[in-house]
Formats: sequence, structure tokens, C-alpha cells
Amino acid sequence: MENKWWKIRAYEVFTNGENIVITGEPSNEDCYSTDEICNVHNCDEMGCGTLEHIILRATLSKRQSEIATLLKKDTDQKAGE
Ligand SMILES: [Zn+2]
Repeated sequence: MENKWWKIRAYEVFTNGENIVITGEPSNEDCYSTDEICNVHNCDEMGCGTLEHIILRATLSKRQSEIATLLKKDTDQKAGE
């Protein structure tokens, strides 16, 4: 099980309750145009904004959406403290 997991260099996670996006750097400083990831990432396809690249995007299940809503409340409370 453990060796099926790998780490992705990510910055932040955003959700609107329906979808989740993970922002990050699609290529590292050692990335050259011949690297596969440089050719795989497409800003138009991923819907990247002007600030950060979206490296992964997924749709939340109903249960995950409920959890995301609870996390939002938790975040809002902390921001108001
Ligand atoms: Zn991008």
C-alpha cells in the first residue's frame, strides 16, 4: 500500500464544495522543455488563474462536499478570532 503513494509538490488546496483544485508548480526549476511534465501541463485545459497553476482537479463526492463545508466553517471561525 505505502509504495503506491507518492508526493506532489503542491502549494494550496481550494474547494467550492463541488470541486477541489490543488495548486502548485507544474515544473520545477530543473524542468526543461523536453521534460514530460512541461509538455503535459496545459493552463487552458486546467483552468489556471493568473497567480498559480492548477496541477490537479477533482470532483468531490456528496460526503466529501459535506466535509468541505465543515472545514469552511472551521476556517471562517479561525479567521474571525
Ligand atoms: Zn498552468
